[in-house]
Amino acid sequence: METKKNIVVIGAGYGGLTAALRLARLFRKHHEYQIHLVDRNPYHTLKTQLHEAAIRKTVVTIPIDRIIQRRNIIFHLGEVTRIDAAKQSIFMGSESLPFYYLVIALGSQVNFYNIPGLRENSFPLQTAEDALLIYDHITRLCARAASAPIEKQRREMLRFIIGGGGLSGIEFASELADHAAQCICNYHVNPQEVEIIIIEAGSHILSKMDESFAARIQKKILEKNIKIVPGTKIVGRTPDTVTLSSGKVLRTNTVIWTGGIRIQELARQSGMKIGQLGRIMVDEFLRVEGYPFIYAIGDNALAMNPHTNEPVPAAAQFALQQGRLVANNVYADIFGGERKPYHPKLLGEVVGLGRHLAVGWLALPFLKKITFVGFLGSLLKTAIQEKHIFLLRRESGKWITY
Ligand SMILES: Cc1cc2nc3c(=O)[nH]c(=O)nc-3n(C[C@H](O)[C@H](O)[C@H](O)COP(=O)(O)OP(=O)(O)OC[C@H]3O[C@@H](n4cnc5c(N)ncnc54)[C@H](O)[C@@H]3O)c2cc1C
Repeated sequence: METKKNIVVIGAGYGGLTAALRLARLFRKHHEYQIHLVDRNPYHTLKTQLHEAAIRKTVVTIPIDRIIQRRNIIFHLGEVTRIDAAKQSIFMGSESLPFYYLVIALGSQVNFYNIPGLRENSFPLQTAEDALLIYDHITRLCARAASAPIEKQRREMLRFIIGGGGLSGIEFASELADHAAQCICNYHVNPQEVEIIIIEAGSHILSKMDESFAARIQKKILEKNIKIVPGTKIVGRTPDTVTLSSGKVLRTNTVIWTGGIRIQELARQSGMKIGQLGRIMVDEFLRVEGYPFIYAIGDNALAMNPHTNEPVPAAAQFALQQGRLVANNVYADIFGGERKPYHPKLLGEVVGLGRHLAVGWLALPFLKKITFVGFLGSLLKTAIQEKHIFLLRRESGKWITY
């Protein structure tokens, strides 16, 4: 029996799923190759919408079988526990899968930076399960606060601390502010008793974005009565307090931690070269240094922007671009085509500030930009999210529903 050559993609997030679908399309007539996709979950998570799920319980997962149906893709549900780069195999516990080519797209996970008590007593927002836990916690807390007889108790219940003023922290805080306003009204709670506080270690929020753009967003955030504490770190957490680097101690039942990401230990353990935050070092074609048959993309790859010499940020739009590029590069490697280097394209940035408000910009031809504020911005945000579903549809040739 003919043994097929396996092209294995690990991680069915933005980067991995895009790579697997494009590979399946490119290799559809080459039956000697088999595409494999591995993920610990049987669904693709729309991670950029997790803050909505955490507050409004919206659906942010799409079953993998709907996306890959009738494609040349074998899906493996499992936790990748080891990559043997030298022997070209990945392991899911005792089960192994040999590869001819490998694409590593395992994304990132929360980084608690060993802050005492933070892991045990805060909520990360990285997975669909995290979002559900937050939804449940906040729903119960608001309901309990409504009937708590003592004001001090109510204030503690309704003081929400968000650790980290990056994109996910800001989008979550804004959704929460809208929700709290609604909840207060429904439960007849005094609005003065609700406090949403963003603790940001840097000098201002959204430090990775353009400063004037970030300032614009900050203005909108303050209008929503969200407090921002810049230049301050969370240094300790107990079940009911948060200690700040300023020495201040706040009493609260809720800390949502969006303050940092890191990469899994898998790559480091397999001997690949690791850079900042544990990201895998890749060359200009996104190949793992020293391993020509292994590519790494998305959050877990340290791709460099050749124009700025800066690392490409961990963002869905870059993971998608990289997924498409590596599929083409694997195909080129195998069939003697021209491998293409990665040039990141920042197509725009949109920050959702609640259900009907967003601030953003989109790149236009000739280095021009168009900015959107308010409801128009939120329509743009929805359009970008829908575009991802549309592109999955196009790659898979199927109508995908959540
Ligand atoms: C709340 C939030 C909001 C965000 N908003 C935006 C935004 O507006 N715009 C933007 O560009 N970016 C945003 N991001 C960042 C964006 O989501 C990530 O950059 C993007 O998901 C990275 O894609 P990826 O393919 O590298 O990894 P992911 O999409 O994280 O996919 C990784 C996949 O690997 C799987 N996996 C991980 N480890 C294993 C293992 N050991 N075994 C098996 N499977 C495994 C996971 O289950 C997952 O399916 C946001 C992130 C968060 C958390």
